This record gives sequence, structure tokens and C-alpha cells, in this order.
Amino acid sequence: MGKTKVVGIAGRYGTRYGATLRKKVKEVLEKRYAPHTCPFCGHKGRVTRISTGIWMCKKCGMKWTGGAYLPRTEVSKTFPNIIVRE
Ligand SMILES: [Zn+2]
Repeated sequence: MGKTKVVGIAGRYGTRYGATLRKKVKEVLEKRYAPHTCPFCGHKGRVTRISTGIWMCKKCGMKWTGGAYLPRTEVSKTFPNIIVRE
């Protein structure tokens, strides 16, 4: 008690939110900054966000729509919408 809880990169959000939400934010941010796996070629670490909700794999050149911060959203459990097939 009284000890500052280590919440990683979500720590900057301070005590404005409850512990549960901070944990959730931490999870989202960690996913956001973690290397993403391409849903098409499976290569990890070459997926970049080129615009909000638009993702591109530098390995296979695929572009698709996804979440604003993640290549895949929770709701789109099906294959992502392909924008450009090269
Ligand atoms: Zn790929």
C-alpha cells in the first residue's frame, strides 16, 4: 500500500482512470507498439500503419483496413478488407 504501482507505458495516464482501465490502456498501447504480424504472409515486424486504420506490410506489399491502432480490430475477426493487391 502507498507504493506506486508500475503500469508501464500507461503510467503517464496517472490516476485519472481506474486500475482496470489503466491496465486495458496499457494492453492496447503495448499491442500498438509491438511488432505486428502480417495477416497475409505472416511476417512479423514489417507491418506499418500508413494512415489511420490503413495498414501495409512491407514484406508482401499488401494494404488493408484495420483498427485505428491495430492491424486487426476485435470486430473484424474475418479476413481484413484488402485495399491494394500487388
Ligand atoms: Zn505481409
